[in-house]
Amino acid sequence: MGDGLEVDPRPPVVVECRDVTKWFGTFCALDQVSLTIRAGEVLALIGPSGAGKSTLLRCINGLEVPTEGQLEVLGHEVVNDRYVLDQLRPRIGMVFQQFNLFPQLTVENNVVLAQRVVHRRSPEEAKARAAEALERVDMLRHLRKHPDQLSGGEQQRVAIARALVVDPELVLFDEPTASVDPELTKGIVDLMTDIARDGVTIVAVTHELGFAREVADRMLYLDEGRIVESGHPDDLLWEARDPRTRQFMQAIRRDWVRSGRAEGSPWAPPD
Ligand code: ADP
Ligand code: MG
Repeated sequence: MGDGLEVDPRPPVVVECRDVTKWFGTFCALDQVSLTIRAGEVLALIGPSGAGKSTLLRCINGLEVPTEGQLEVLGHEVVNDRYVLDQLRPRIGMVFQQFNLFPQLTVENNVVLAQRVVHRRSPEEAKARAAEALERVDMLRHLRKHPDQLSGGEQQRVAIARALVVDPELVLFDEPTASVDPELTKGIVDLMTDIARDGVTIVAVTHELGFAREVADRMLYLDEGRIVESGHPDDLLWEARDPRTRQFMQAIRRDWVRSGRAEGSPWAPPD
């Protein structure tokens, strides 16, 4: 005490955005976004189409570089530098709305590829790890199939296995259930929940309120490139301060109840 050696008891910072701004030509997709994410946190990012949600995720994994402001991810500053980005990207798993599997490769090879090329694992190890990861997402029996032989939900399971197989420190989900049939959505959400409970740091763009309420530590509402409001999911869903946020929350709550997936959870009837 008082010896100047107190350590910060909080988990380490994984993502630090300071006034991150992203311009596409004359269009401002992210407008001075400031945000700190610590290890083990689960963030749900929501907001209307065009709000900048994907752009924020793409900046965090170095697919885009901020035009202004500072962005530090896993100790690296995200800048236009091939070396830095090559260090960073292998430590992050990304799951996209459109799955982005390689159509010419089998399920197994989709999960093997990055392990071989980026992580330089031996063929034997890569195959063994792929089998483990596919088992976890219940897709092991589809090893030899190609993506076009699978449903959207199955493709997304493979994409999740591919993201997890490299032991990422941070996993980014960009509307992972938006292209999945409603009856298969629950399986994907359950899988995300399972991953979150493992303690991995997660940023998920999702309007699946089951995940947001039961798993997310924090919810962020983004509109027009800005974080309009953030807080505990239940506070934001029911008691948002900002009128735009409130209106949006009311709409997604209503959609959620209508989807039938709110059954069994303590939700008020549609308002
Ligand atoms: P969201 O994921 O919230 O729907 P995005 O981050 O995809 O929103 O996009 C935010 C805005 O930025 C949109 O208006 C989109 O058209 C624009 N945008 C995104 N990427 C590019 C790009 N590469 N070039 C030009 N405009 C882009
Ligand atoms: Mg998007």
